[in-house]
Amino acid sequence: MEQGVTGGRATLAALEARGVGCRIRPSLSEVGLRLLPGADAAEARELLYKALNGLEPHFSVFLEGVPACFMPDAWDHALYRKAPGRRYFRIGACARCRLAALCPGLERGGPFDGPAKKLLAPVLPAPSELVLELTKRCNLRCRLCFASDSAASLTLPRIKAALREAKALGVRNVRFTGGEPFLSPLLPRALAAAKDAGFYVLVNTNAALDRPDLFRKAAPLIDNVLVSLQAADAAAERASTGGDFAVKLRNMRLLRAKVPVFRLGTVASKNLIADFPRFRSLAARLKADIWELYRPMPDGRGAVRPGDFDLAPAHLKRLSKLAAGTAAPRTLIANPAPLCLVPPAERGHLLGAAFDDGHTRLVLDPRGFFKPSYYIEENLGKSLKAAWSAPYRKKLTSFRWLPAGCRGCRWLLKCLGGSRALAKAASGTYFAGDPWL
Ligand code: SF4
Ligand code: SF4
Repeated sequence: MEQGVTGGRATLAALEARGVGCRIRPSLSEVGLRLLPGADAAEARELLYKALNGLEPHFSVFLEGVPACFMPDAWDHALYRKAPGRRYFRIGACARCRLAALCPGLERGGPFDGPAKKLLAPVLPAPSELVLELTKRCNLRCRLCFASDSAASLTLPRIKAALREAKALGVRNVRFTGGEPFLSPLLPRALAAAKDAGFYVLVNTNAALDRPDLFRKAAPLIDNVLVSLQAADAAAERASTGGDFAVKLRNMRLLRAKVPVFRLGTVASKNLIADFPRFRSLAARLKADIWELYRPMPDGRGAVRPGDFDLAPAHLKRLSKLAAGTAAPRTLIANPAPLCLVPPAERGHLLGAAFDDGHTRLVLDPRGFFKPSYYIEENLGKSLKAAWSAPYRKKLTSFRWLPAGCRGCRWLLKCLGGSRALAKAASGTYFAGDPWL
């Protein structure tokens, strides 16, 4: 059932007066935003971005009827299809646009067949994030970990060269990870170099090193930290990671106090589902901004984790209900899974494959080459620019070989058709359907 927002009519009227149409479908937890005919497109776009940011934590938001290049930072929200009987044309940006294969182009006589065309920019002509795996070494021995053991580490000149290349390409985010990045003596200088270059700086850590001095020194250079959380008490921490829970709690509180965005991340397991209330209450006590849950992925060699981490679609459905029913912290299933496994009203809690499989970011392996994701260890070469244009990455992120149901699906840009790494683990090739489809 579609209906307007009761109690929000004044807001809707104000949006419409400034060129933005808004339709809420409460039963689906879905909002459609659109550019109204005759609107000032530049002004309406600012408002659309603001509305999107405000609504996204609560609804699945679709940008209806505008090409993704109108709001390239929100490309995954675009719902733009060829309309029967209309004619379309291409512009220069289409040649560098990641969505060119799905998009019909611009509509003849439409809002962008004129001066507003200059507002358009291609979608993802470069990665939005550079991920630097400083080292493969780790202080923990987590049962779920996909990091391969290796002595390889990035050098400072290699890190700086990657940062320079990323800057020149227009990459905005830089993430430091590992192994455990706080084991790298280069982390402080690498963080400072990224900060000086103006990047938004993210760090993934297990926060389990008994070196509060390192966390205290690094915190002012970090915009966004993600801490892995695999246990809700000391005994479980020892069993699942070998770490000291008291040390971890102290470091997490230190990071929470000093870093603007503090996230927690938990690889989903049968134990997590059974013990969800205790994990949730810990995440709330730690004042996490976001709690991310991950579908277990295979390691770099394609081995799937057994036992507690061997999940089935029914587990994802249960987890999705639990995530959707969690008011605080905001709880998301943050890696690839077919969105159509869960009811539409819960899909706003699933981030799909955007951050994996080479869709929006590339990872610099400690051995010095770029690869599509943590667990797809295909060598894409030593240059970020060349890796982004590599035929292999393009093939990996292409929509062409997805099942026909995916290609026609309105959720495609949010979901991206599930996991390539798990397709490989199940079928021996990345270019197959997700085994949960
Ligand atoms: S293919 Fe062209 S028209 Fe379509 S979103 Fe990309 S730049 Fe815009
Ligand atoms: S893109 Fe495919 S896997 Fe994803 S929701 Fe649509 S049909 Fe399902």
